[in-house]
Amino acid sequence: MSNPTVIENQKLQNETVINVRPPRKSRDYQQISIYKDVNPLDWEDWHWQLKHRIRFKEELAQIIKLTPEEEKGLDKAKGRLSMSITPYWASLIDADDPDCPIRRQSVPVAAEFSVSPHEMADPCAEDRDSPAPYLVHRYPDRVLLLATEHCAMYCRHCTRRRLVGDHEEKDGDPLTKFDAAIEYIKSNRKIRDVLISGGDPLTLEDEALENLLAKIRAISHVEFLRIGTRIPVSLPQRITENLANTLKRYSPVWMSVHFNHPKEITKRCKLACDMLAESGVPLGSQTVLLKGVNDRPFIMKRLVQELLQIRVRPYYIYQCDPVRGTQHFRTPVATGINIIEKLRGHTSGYAVPTYVIDGPGGGGKIPIGPNYILSQAKGKYVLRNYKGKIYTYQE
Ligand SMILES: *Cc1c(COP(=O)(O)O)cnc(C)c1O
Repeated sequence: MSNPTVIENQKLQNETVINVRPPRKSRDYQQISIYKDVNPLDWEDWHWQLKHRIRFKEELAQIIKLTPEEEKGLDKAKGRLSMSITPYWASLIDADDPDCPIRRQSVPVAAEFSVSPHEMADPCAEDRDSPAPYLVHRYPDRVLLLATEHCAMYCRHCTRRRLVGDHEEKDGDPLTKFDAAIEYIKSNRKIRDVLISGGDPLTLEDEALENLLAKIRAISHVEFLRIGTRIPVSLPQRITENLANTLKRYSPVWMSVHFNHPKEITKRCKLACDMLAESGVPLGSQTVLLKGVNDRPFIMKRLVQELLQIRVRPYYIYQCDPVRGTQHFRTPVATGINIIEKLRGHTSGYAVPTYVIDGPGGGGKIPIGPNYILSQAKGKYVLRNYKGKIYTYQE
């Protein structure tokens, strides 16, 4: 039996020889039998991608050989957080490897349907901190607007699985549904930052998104907008010239993109990020620490270094929230602290995100990391650096 750790270490050593890795080519979709006749223009059309999302077991079984755990998971995944995989994302899946990080994030397994004692439907108590429909107000100067309940691809570790999925949205007119939320922002002059998330707001049509951006931008005390999305990773075809120009018109618009694994950084994804960066949208990444996906320091290091190459600044690593059915993804907190220990000082400071735990019950993001202060007394700080060498700073 070969030892996987030894193999990974060898890979790591090989990697240090090649410093700059070009972004990966995704598996040529025409090699996948059900897509072999798809016209490249259709493949590039985001509406085509959405229309042809993989939703059912029978479709997925044509692309990958399902494990019994996946079959059980697929039989149960209905309604909220049903399965949905874009053909593009499916083309990144390793059909022969049940541990493929792309596959684990998108294909339901039986373990999702067992709920552990500390898990909750709404671990961050967002529903409690909601002063108007679709709005979460937790911090003094910024709000979170949940613009839609749909995504291009449903992540199996989703923290808003209580809301998100392929069900029919019951709410009414997209032109008026955010009126109360917008009134709340208008009447609260402390709000200078509006984070539009969901669901994935980039699943909205350009006109609906622009309508929302325009209404929020029209509020004089709102200094900037941000969009939380996974679209550049799960459906990069959605980043069209028209979308990029729209975002440019409402500048400053920042974007936080959910990236979890270096395999997600393909040539196609890079192209989408380039278009955004060139439209003046500063890009940050949000990463969820997931067992067996990105919980090893060398994978996380490769991810953050490759993100800088596509002009994405690593922003947060999240401890996986105790949301119902995600126990199989959760790592010990020490795993996350060790990842930061292996990044800080060892690579560019720009590559080091902040590791946070979203305080269960509504505490907000709490930064967690290695301790560099060994002792402190009478204006004397005894510190250690990233190599463990000890230094004294006298105040
Ligand atoms: C994450 C989050 C924000 C934004 O937090 P930042 O640390 O400023 O990125 C705002 N509101 C809510 C409810 C959040 O969960």
